[in-house]
Amino acid sequence: MTASVLDRPRADGASAEEPGDEPSLGRLHDRAAEVDQELLPCRANNPELWFAESPSDVEQAKALCQGCPVRSLCLDGALERREPWGVWGGQLFLQGVVIPRKRPRGRPRKTDAA
Ligand code: SF4
Repeated sequence: MTASVLDRPRADGASAEEPGDEPSLGRLHDRAAEVDQELLPCRANNPELWFAESPSDVEQAKALCQGCPVRSLCLDGALERREPWGVWGGQLFLQGVVIPRKRPRGRPRKTDAA
């Protein structure tokens, strides 16, 4: 079985199985367990893509999430938990907030493109 973003432990170390804690990772796990695993892109593909360094890989993970049957629950949970990093629910998180895209490594431009 392939590990996925759904298999990550909670950052606070608490159990992900707590009932009534929606939208929790436990609720997401429960919902994901009801779906054919092949329909969950982060389980059917290499989960490293969801935590990739390459901007193009991150964009690919975001695109793959769009067809996920638990995308809304995944996104709501990630927003609630303020995920520190990775693609969740089709959005890229960095330090708990959604950012539009991952910046490539290297020096910033000397002037902003208008
Ligand atoms: S929305 Fe994306 S990260 Fe969340 S479970 Fe689906 S494929 Fe995985």
